Amino acid sequence: MSELTQPLGAFTRSVSGVSTSGSSLRDYWEGLSELTMSRLADNWEATTKKYREGQRASYFSAEFLMGRALLNNLVNLGLVEDARKALEDYGLNLTDVLDEEPDAALGNGGLGRLAACFMDSCATLNFPVVGYGILYRYGLFKQSFVDGFQKEEPDPWMENGSPFVVRREAEAKHVKFADMDVRAVPYDMPITGYGTANVNTLRLWKAEPLEEFDYDAFNSQRFTDAIVERERVNDLCRVLYPNDTTYEGKVLRVRQQYFFCSASLQCLIAEHKEAHGDIRSFGEYNSIQLNDTHPVLAIPELMRLLMDEEGLGWEDAWKIVSQTFAYTNHTVLAEALETWETSIFTKLFPRIYDIVAEMDRRFRAELAEAGFHPGKIEYMAPLSGGLVHMAWIACYASFSINGVAAIHSEILKRDTLHDWYDIWPERFNNKTNGVTPRRWLHNCNPRLAALLTEVLGDDSWVTDLDKLATIEERGNADIYRRLMEIKAENKRDFARWIKRRDGIDIPTDAIYDTIIKRLHEYKRQLMNALYILDLYFRIKDNPSLEVPPRVFIFGAKAAPGYKRAKAIIKFINEVAKLVNNDADTRGKITVLFVENYNVSPAEHIIPATDISEQISLAGKEASGTGNMKFMMNGALTLGTMDGATVEIVDAVGEENAYIFGAREEELPELRAHYNPREQYETVPGLKRVLDALVDGTVSDGGTGEFHDLLGSLLDGSSWETPDVYYVLGDFADYRATRDRMAADYANQEEWGRKAWINICRSGRFSSDRTIADYGRDIWGVKAAPIK
Ligand SMILES: *Cc1c(COP(=O)(O)O)cnc(C)c1O
Repeated sequence: MSELTQPLGAFTRSVSGVSTSGSSLRDYWEGLSELTMSRLADNWEATTKKYREGQRASYFSAEFLMGRALLNNLVNLGLVEDARKALEDYGLNLTDVLDEEPDAALGNGGLGRLAACFMDSCATLNFPVVGYGILYRYGLFKQSFVDGFQKEEPDPWMENGSPFVVRREAEAKHVKFADMDVRAVPYDMPITGYGTANVNTLRLWKAEPLEEFDYDAFNSQRFTDAIVERERVNDLCRVLYPNDTTYEGKVLRVRQQYFFCSASLQCLIAEHKEAHGDIRSFGEYNSIQLNDTHPVLAIPELMRLLMDEEGLGWEDAWKIVSQTFAYTNHTVLAEALETWETSIFTKLFPRIYDIVAEMDRRFRAELAEAGFHPGKIEYMAPLSGGLVHMAWIACYASFSINGVAAIHSEILKRDTLHDWYDIWPERFNNKTNGVTPRRWLHNCNPRLAALLTEVLGDDSWVTDLDKLATIEERGNADIYRRLMEIKAENKRDFARWIKRRDGIDIPTDAIYDTIIKRLHEYKRQLMNALYILDLYFRIKDNPSLEVPPRVFIFGAKAAPGYKRAKAIIKFINEVAKLVNNDADTRGKITVLFVENYNVSPAEHIIPATDISEQISLAGKEASGTGNMKFMMNGALTLGTMDGATVEIVDAVGEENAYIFGAREEELPELRAHYNPREQYETVPGLKRVLDALVDGTVSDGGTGEFHDLLGSLLDGSSWETPDVYYVLGDFADYRATRDRMAADYANQEEWGRKAWINICRSGRFSSDRTIADYGRDIWGVKAAPIK
């Protein structure tokens, strides 16, 4: 019997209220989770205390795409084998129990997942960093396909509470809007680290009515009034906005942003005063990293708290503010930077509006004094054109402005933020993103993890991924063969998983070629699907064509209001239907669109993948982090020179990746002469696949969506040039490169060698490296281990 068998039984009975034999798998998941919480509680408290003493950083983010917690915590507490045995004592299997956990999908994609990887690395490095965000009741919508179209449903991920979220009633705060007063109640998630006793905190705020109930209204029979007011407050944290770029529900979104910024700052100020007495030293002890512009309201809110609540004057408050904030930019598109109508500010929080107006006045005076052109001042000012410019506020008030990959940071300096760079070059820096090797290698790919530990001689690579560089030279024919065997076993695991999950059969003896990421035109999933359709036609033309068997894997959610992205989802599903059901192509090429892409599906897909598709138009993907997860798991990159893929290629060499397409610096010249109609006529295969959109080969169900897709590529519209994302321009090179890649796969030893190089050189893409850089260059924090 395992040491955990008795306690697991006790916890499980306690959550189910029945005997262990009567408890469900879900009860066991909850019981094991509660048990895990009980094991980390003391260290969690000790860590929280310790961090309040010294220099600290806070990570403000509207999104944290955490995924599942239980396995990660079991690994970090060293309890996996005990838990496995304990469950076996009850006739259960650990994997089945882990599968009961819903993903905490409090984020849209890369930006939110980055925040989650950062939390993991901060804990592992014993860094005094707390994450602050919102406890959304519904995470990112659940996606299903109905007749190939995306359907969205709400995701109530913790309707009956979550064992990994603890309500801290005593630390509730009060957040005031002009039209509403709410109670902000913190819900804390423990963040365990690998190989450390420290347990960090992710604090998520929930909005509640100040009074549980308006008894007057209730007693005087105005039931609905009482309930309506309550619901207005509850609406605040009801949903995560499923949009990356476009906006809707603007007032509510701004309300969410202010809500969590204000509550978090009140908390930091109270803690600071308790530890150090004097508010004036706040900026010396605190750094606040703003994950994109969503938390930028923290800047005027800290001004307000320091002046109105703490009694400081403007100059003193501004000095503290400009010591405190650091801003991370995540997009190169100036038009995608957040702006809000000033009317939203005056309606929700007139005092914040006044503070922004005073910032605006001072900013304009400062720049005029320095002799700047009035047109430039107008463009850069916090308030202009009836709008509040969140990114300009961030640039003005922050001591650090960073991009998330080398190419991205260069584009910021050159284009998006070049006016700011001219004035304050010393604020600009790059912090190339990273991903945690615990979740994205050690936990999701145990076979590869075991091989790496065996070859290195210990598992120190788990917290020091650069160690893998030292074993690159030990690569030999035997290692490459074992690597390919691991990949083959992972494919069989994945095939079983998708069969059980969705009832779909896929071949396992095939190249697994994957694109998983949010659906966006710039990410060019459409180009991928066009290639597959072209390959289908080539096989139809010549059924004896020798092609290596391939499984094309897709995973993507489209923002519910992004019509063209949804049309692309329908198109991919149509191509899948065509290709998977044709006797000439069956078994040779298979298309699998995994429904409801999320963190835990990614953990199954990535270890099984041979080819990582990173095919965005050069200059558009700020960094990408999916590319890094694949590299760590030995997939070769098929991609453009964009985002962090540039640095992946720098690490492994072009000969160990498949790089194609226009370079960012070539595009202005190429675009100047670009005519997609000419591509359509002359590029081999292109006319046939584009015609297929409208000639009945595939059907959009009579919606006209495919006609619009074709129009967007060939003709554009009054507001959009044709083929904005250069799909047809890059198609020929993509096709040739992808064909070459597939042919190369025949040489398994050589493929294994390339995979080995990718794995061994992935050290710089660990989020431990990224967080060490933030800690040293921006936050000035040091490790504070409790033991
Ligand atoms: C890593 C990750 C992303 C980001 O993927 P990119 O390819 O970098 O856009 C998005 N969603 C999930 C669930 C992820 O795990």
